[in-house]
Amino acid sequence: MRGCNFSPGPAALPERVLQQAQIDIWNWQQQNAFAGFGVMETSHRSADFMALVAETERFLRELLAIPEHYAVLFLQGGATLQFSQIPLNWLKTGHANYLVTGLWSEKALAEGSRYGQMTQVAEILENYRSIPEVATWHWDAAADYFHYCHNETVHGVEFAEIPEVSVPLISDFSSTLLSRPLDVSRFAMIYAGAQKNIGPSGVTIVILDPSRLPPAHPFTPTLLNYRTQMAAGSLFNTPPTFALYVIHGVLKDLLDQGGLAVQAERNRQKAALLYQALDALPLYENLVEVRYRSWMNVPFFLKESALQAEFLQEATALGLYHLKGHKQVGGLRASLYNAVSLSCVEKLVDFLESFSKTHV
Ligand SMILES: *Cc1c(COP(=O)(O)O)cnc(C)c1O
Repeated sequence: MRGCNFSPGPAALPERVLQQAQIDIWNWQQQNAFAGFGVMETSHRSADFMALVAETERFLRELLAIPEHYAVLFLQGGATLQFSQIPLNWLKTGHANYLVTGLWSEKALAEGSRYGQMTQVAEILENYRSIPEVATWHWDAAADYFHYCHNETVHGVEFAEIPEVSVPLISDFSSTLLSRPLDVSRFAMIYAGAQKNIGPSGVTIVILDPSRLPPAHPFTPTLLNYRTQMAAGSLFNTPPTFALYVIHGVLKDLLDQGGLAVQAERNRQKAALLYQALDALPLYENLVEVRYRSWMNVPFFLKESALQAEFLQEATALGLYHLKGHKQVGGLRASLYNAVSLSCVEKLVDFLESFSKTHV
């Protein structure tokens, strides 16, 4: 039996997809004919693989109801490379707005600032346990874009609504894309590293509105110009083929399960169960303002921090893995991505209760 994996990323993947991958690594059966070789050993220019990439894009478009004129790209370099690729492609006047609500939007601003004059939209809140009130935001209507991070993976802070701004809105959705339905048309661009909620590491999903995309900076490397991969169907150079194969399986699995509304209901339930336990049991605390609590990443603390090593040891012995918090926040963190089952969250809650009983 496999354990319960609460890793923030690379994170849990659906069991059905992994089981099929075991078979396809050895012998990838496409179009009802035994290929005689595995998916990792297949050319990205082969008809079968190109069909897989095209279908992966179709699945994503269907799941998120992506407007037809938007481009869907499968890129490399992680969400981190987007921190530079965004200013290279989206700056026109050299000025953009950044809202900083946690570690990842902080990094996006630091990297973006190498390319232009980036202004912060609001005060940085101590310890990132909330999101600055919209009334305190100062953003510039003449800026080239407005960047924010919809779900801060490290701090467990998630926007309850999409910000209303009149400049192209760009958002890092790395740890929450596909957790529930999303109105993509509100964004000029969305990006997400796959290894949180979507697939293995190595692929970054970019969804953008080409009608709003300015010409890239002249020094932009060819591979980092979004138009290069738009024209090449994400196959300008060799993509991470196995990672794309797994993503194809994950998206198909989501469609087979009934799409993102089904995931939303399950994810809401999973998060509610965990937050209820953390709030009810005296040994634990989650300090994020309730309306901004993330469905995907739940940081929490033991009020008696000296018990942490014992907590982690007992959790591991029960098959509850990767609950240690990020070093910048400390404490503990449970990531509840789509592939983490309700029964795993129930097991975690049972453990929180029993550990609390024996240690209060
Ligand atoms: C993990 C993460 C990143 C960084 O992703 P890499 O693939 O390691 O570059 C950026 N933003 C968010 C919100 C993340 O969760």
